[in-house]
Amino acid sequence: MATQTGKGTALVTGASSGIGAVYADRLARRGYDLILVARDAARLNALAERLTTQTGRRIDTITADLTVKADVRRIEERLRADTGITMLVNNAGVGATASLIDSDVDALETMIDLNVTALTRLTAAVVPGFVARGNGIVINISSIVALSPETLNGTYSGTKAYVLNLTQSLHHEVGDKGVQLQAVLPGATSTAFWDRAGLPVEHLPSQIVMSAEDMVDAALAGLDQGELVTIPSLPDAADWERFNNARQHLQPNLSHKLPAARYKRVAATA
Ligand code: NAP
Repeated sequence: MATQTGKGTALVTGASSGIGAVYADRLARRGYDLILVARDAARLNALAERLTTQTGRRIDTITADLTVKADVRRIEERLRADTGITMLVNNAGVGATASLIDSDVDALETMIDLNVTALTRLTAAVVPGFVARGNGIVINISSIVALSPETLNGTYSGTKAYVLNLTQSLHHEVGDKGVQLQAVLPGATSTAFWDRAGLPVEHLPSQIVMSAEDMVDAALAGLDQGELVTIPSLPDAADWERFNNARQHLQPNLSHKLPAARYKRVAATA
């Protein structure tokens, strides 16, 4: 078990490449010890070795496939038992670019297992301890497709909308109990994600693609500013506020005893 030193320990899923590997780098430099989780042990160990040398932080690795129940349970147990853990970065995820009718539904189910089920179980494992200790941070990597279901694959955007929704809901539940929540909504980011999702990143217009380093640095700046939702590409934060306010404006009228007048049944004529 990692002992709490300085900022404590951050557990980062999907740390073997891309955005997760940059989080590992930045968090080690901010003084966190790390637990790095992914399937590729060789890449995890190489990253852990480099960051230990460069930062002197204590870095553990756990090889786990977060679509496999037993592996998820192992991480849940660590999150519950290790009171030195002060941050969870739910980053591991896969995408898809094909339309639903052109997709392999088993692959979509595996994506839900990773992007939704594992993320939910890990969050549910760590948050009670954070609440009990009055301290902890959960960073959930969503995506701008959470706000744009017409972009990429609808199951993928649905998983990322779930991540946004869960983060907002959890903030509502435990945001005043010492737990900081953040949903990060990256736009296109230059990582292996795109090759794995079947669309090489080189096929995207370069002006819409951010580096993983810029994305994570912006997201951490948003965290430092206490943002619940961070959209690194969005030039004007007021645009998000207007969108979110419009959603909240619906709230008082979303549940009534009677249907709205426009749905009144027209009397049948004999
Ligand atoms: P990436 O380089 O492919 O990284 C994905 C990470 O998830 C890898 O470390 C991978 O490690 C891990 N992973 C994949 N399947 C896993 C499994 N079954 N069990 C455990 N770990 C698994 O892509 P990325 O862009 O950094 O993606 C990170 C997150 O950002 C994802 O949630 C993605 O949806 C989100 N995102 C990405 C973009 C983008 O444009 N790149 C945009 C918006 C959101 P192993 O293969 O070693 O297991």
